[in-house]
Amino acid sequence: MKSSLNFEQTSQDDLHTGRSPWGGKIANPERAALSASLKTGIAIIGGGITGALTAEHLTSLGHEVTVIDRETLGHGSTKASTAMLQWETDASLQELTELYGFDSAADIYRRSSAAVAGLANLIAEHRIPCSFHPRPTLYLAAGETGERELREELALRHRAGLAGQLLPHAELAQEFGLDREAAILSPGSAEADPLLLCWSLLHIAASRGARLIAADALHFHAEGDRVVVETDGTHVIEARHVVLATGYVMPHFVMPETHATLSSYAICTVPQAPDRLWRDHALIWEATEPYLYMRATADNRIIIGGEDEDIADPQKRDALLPDKTLRLKERLVQLWPQADATISHAWCGAFGETTDGLPLIGSVPGARNIHAAYGYGGNGITFSYLASRMIAAMIAGDRQGWFENFALDRPAPSSC
Ligand SMILES: Cc1cc2nc3c(=O)[nH]c(=O)nc-3n(C[C@H](O)[C@H](O)[C@H](O)COP(=O)(O)OP(=O)(O)OC[C@H]3O[C@@H](n4cnc5c(N)ncnc54)[C@H](O)[C@@H]3O)c2cc1C
Repeated sequence: MKSSLNFEQTSQDDLHTGRSPWGGKIANPERAALSASLKTGIAIIGGGITGALTAEHLTSLGHEVTVIDRETLGHGSTKASTAMLQWETDASLQELTELYGFDSAADIYRRSSAAVAGLANLIAEHRIPCSFHPRPTLYLAAGETGERELREELALRHRAGLAGQLLPHAELAQEFGLDREAAILSPGSAEADPLLLCWSLLHIAASRGARLIAADALHFHAEGDRVVVETDGTHVIEARHVVLATGYVMPHFVMPETHATLSSYAICTVPQAPDRLWRDHALIWEATEPYLYMRATADNRIIIGGEDEDIADPQKRDALLPDKTLRLKERLVQLWPQADATISHAWCGAFGETTDGLPLIGSVPGARNIHAAYGYGGNGITFSYLASRMIAAMIAGDRQGWFENFALDRPAPSSC
């Protein structure tokens, strides 16, 4: 196992530093103090985007839900996210095919695509004010991935029934003004303000009766068919099911082999004149490891991020922020020379990932009725949506074969 964050001691301040551009338009939902022990149907530990999506979905199904967070709702990694809502996973379809075979890999890609579509429907259904916009993605040739490799990737995606087209150099330059060997242009992704989305979902869940509670969940033990959550106070929460949505901090009894914590960096510019942005505000990312990515915001800023480092320690991560800010600015100017590269926000955060780029979703081995919802990697939010649906199915006793692709105890692949 590689570096990880301590479950008991990691605070939201350890998860990120600096300022991201999110939130502001709606009120942060309030948590109530835990003034007495309580019983609930489902206790969700963590009120970030994963807990929020899970709470919204479970309350829509009529479950009695309690969300427990020890700090401000949404102010964990959710606040630091750049919120590109993509279905292409960190591992290409080709890489996943090498690891798990074409049928499983194609199924994972199709489920990821369906998750972004499901999230779009949910936001539309509730008219959630979160600067959500459908966007295409541009996957740029970089490093050892040139036009030939992108054509092979695209052929596999087409075989899996997924849409996309190759843009060779000239077409990419003409249509998007980008100087790269080639790119894959794909429909079906999106962008949002992750904090507004998280808070809105929690408001919806609360309006259906979900309790939002301020407490630190420290220990979990079984009593008959119930799970008892011991908190930092004298009171306990007893639930039929517990969903762990604690982001990049995991209890020790969960910690799978495939998980590691890195550091990631991002900057945001001042608003651009609309004619200084690229076509369709496509979400742009590079076919390299670690990759660089770029998106626009609803108010025409440019966010560019990446420059990941294999560092879990928050102080070491933060010490690099000034240098990484300059480096990202340079890379912005290289990739998009017409940008006004005046920076309005710069931040960094812990970034959890897995060796195969897939999330950790499902029953916690050896812990009855405790479910984990850890949507790691660059598709964290897409996977959080998937987790909310999978866990609802598991609670209903509906375990499907494909859930194994995301299981916590899946064998760690040797390389990806
Ligand atoms: C720089 C950066 C860029 C990113 N870009 C993208 C992107 O473009 N697209 C994408 O999809 N994803 C992206 N991600 C990933 C995405 O942000 C995460 O997957 C997502 O925010 C995780 O949400 P969460 O709710 O699981 O965790 P969090 O938001 O961290 O929420 C967990 C909550 O649990 C609470 N908690 C923890 N332990 C306890 C406890 N014991 N008791 C009570 N409460 C507890 C915390 O206080 C916190 O509020 C990015 C992440 C970073 C850092």
